Amino acid sequence: MSKRGIVTVISGFSGAGKGTVVAKLVEKYGYALSISDTTRKPRPGEQEGVHYFYKSVNEFKELIAGNGLLEWARYVDNYYGTPREYVEKKLDEGIDVILEIEVQGGLQVKSNLKDSVLLFMAPPSAEELKNRLVNRGTEDKDTIRKRLERAGEEIRYINAYDYLVINDDIEECALNIHNIIQNEKKKLIHNSELCDVIKTDYMNIGKEI
Ligand code: 5GP
Repeated sequence: MSKRGIVTVISGFSGAGKGTVVAKLVEKYGYALSISDTTRKPRPGEQEGVHYFYKSVNEFKELIAGNGLLEWARYVDNYYGTPREYVEKKLDEGIDVILEIEVQGGLQVKSNLKDSVLLFMAPPSAEELKNRLVNRGTEDKDTIRKRLERAGEEIRYINAYDYLVINDDIEECALNIHNIIQNEKKKLIHNSELCDVIKTDYMNIGKEI
């Protein structure tokens, strides 16, 4: 089996329920979740180092310049990015890492890490998305409108993703994602050492008779 962990990107519309499903993946299945850097202001109840590392625009630009981010993007007036060091450390420890990030960042990850898995999460319908965002009550009307418009833009990238998962039920969705990741890890690309051993064994087997 593979020793190095793999990166799974979970993207999807704001309001698709990514946060809840990802929390379940961490708690129940032991995945490591990368905490992003952002220039967005904390929402009520959000904590530094738990939800995000909150940065000024200047601090964020310094991180970009110092190659400290695995990927980054601008999303509805703010910058968001994945700290490179944390992800590399977990992968080296053999732990699978989840990135809950938007689509531009997802595509950057795929071009840097060819063996990463890109999942796109959607709610059961577009109407349901609107209801969830409005009922969440964490954003004003203008921000909700921008986020819904952004959903219309993000869906264009869906064909670049490896999987589409529908979030109707949290437990079921988390299990589906866990199964996808575990199957990905069985691919030969993640098991090249084992593959080499088996190849050598079979290539030499006839010589031993
Ligand atoms: P929110 O402001 O609702 O917490 O996040 C807005 C969007 O930014 C979500 O789609 C979220 O997945 C995405 N996001 C969060 N962290 C990152 C990151 O590190 N990189 C990128 N590219 N997107 C991120």
